[in-house]
Amino acid sequence: MIGGGVMGAAAAWRLARRGVDVTVYDRHSPPHALGASHGESRIIRTAYFEGPWYVPLLREVFPLWRELEAATGAQILTMTGALMIGSSSSDVVTGALGSAKEHGLDAEFLDTDDFRRRYRGHVVRDGDVAVLDRQAGVLNPERAVAAMLAQVPEVRRETEVKSLADVRGEFDAVVVAAGAWTPELIDWIPLQVERQVHGWFSIARDATWFAPDQFPAFVRQSDESGFMYGIPSLDGRTVKVGRHHEGELTDPHRIRRRVDEFDIDPLRLLTATYMRGVSGHVARTVTCMYTNTPDGHFVIDFKPDDRHVVVISACSGHGFKFGPIIGEIAADLVCDGGTRRDISHFSAARFATSPEVPHQDGHRDR
Ligand SMILES: Cc1cc2nc3c(=O)[nH]c(=O)nc-3n(C[C@H](O)[C@H](O)[C@H](O)COP(=O)(O)OP(=O)(O)OC[C@H]3O[C@@H](n4cnc5c(N)ncnc54)[C@H](O)[C@@H]3O)c2cc1C
Repeated sequence: MIGGGVMGAAAAWRLARRGVDVTVYDRHSPPHALGASHGESRIIRTAYFEGPWYVPLLREVFPLWRELEAATGAQILTMTGALMIGSSSSDVVTGALGSAKEHGLDAEFLDTDDFRRRYRGHVVRDGDVAVLDRQAGVLNPERAVAAMLAQVPEVRRETEVKSLADVRGEFDAVVVAAGAWTPELIDWIPLQVERQVHGWFSIARDATWFAPDQFPAFVRQSDESGFMYGIPSLDGRTVKVGRHHEGELTDPHRIRRRVDEFDIDPLRLLTATYMRGVSGHVARTVTCMYTNTPDGHFVIDFKPDDRHVVVISACSGHGFKFGPIIGEIAADLVCDGGTRRDISHFSAARFATSPEVPHQDGHRDR
């Protein structure tokens, strides 16, 4: 296993459960804050606007998160529901409704009045609507990675794998879960790494507005501002807010870890425009990396000429919630040479003919 972020840790956990002798290598010491699997919280949701084909995997993943909690005693998943907010023709709203309808999910459409009445922490303009996805919540990423790795017999920390060839001879199979470092190990998937910053904004008014049982996690899309997301207050003092995409292209070696006003100002503008009861004061910030494919969908596939090498870590900024099921699929591919789950949307071959390169400023077409 190359990488002990959520993908590598999950695949190793699922392989170890099948009795496979698995070794995880990580160049750092996971859980750490230098990749993508950190930052206190991750949204998990089911009425998936990105595509209805993700829904069967999401249905399978909730019990796996609970299994991890039961096996380790760690508290990882908090159900809060999630709101997809936008105009009635926005991708988040139409996509979430489409997935909910196709799969008969527990989701509710909120018209402008309903939305305004129920959620005081949001600015609701005329024309804003929302979909409340009840099968949704928040995961703790560091706890999740630690819990998974605790289930794995051998984790070699601070140990970089320099090339695939280095480990390919030593093991029957290799899973590449190197996140933003993946382009250093493989060259058959066009990937771009995008810097992301999120911040914890101080609550200025009533903290109960943002409590996990009152304030669902949310993704909000608008023509002017693109995508933003927010997490209910986990400490009673702050709410975490970030932009989805719009970050600069980078790589893990030259990423700017320091966060400055140019990073915070756009977040401050988002909270001032779209939220109520949140101050402009930022208590803390974190940088993170998205590993993007050209179309924003995952790659879960074999190496084209070697079915003993599997790549799982190209998740375009929305992979965390899927960790355990992607780990399970990786275990299927390694142990059985295939999987009964539908992963046809995640093939690497879709980029083989005409790799399109995303815009400098990330994908806006999602
Ligand atoms: C700001 C932000 C917010 C996000 N929000 C959400 C969300 O709300 N919901 C959601 O589902 N997803 C979300 N995501 C996406 C999700 O967090 C990622 O898809 C996921 O964490 C990726 O995990 P990974 O294991 O592929 O990568 P990583 O966590 O980066 O792990 C890769 C690991 O590989 C190791 N490694 C790399 N190269 C080598 C090598 N050569 N040898 C040994 N080890 C190596 C690294 O040290 C690292 O530990 C978010 C991401 C960010 C950045």
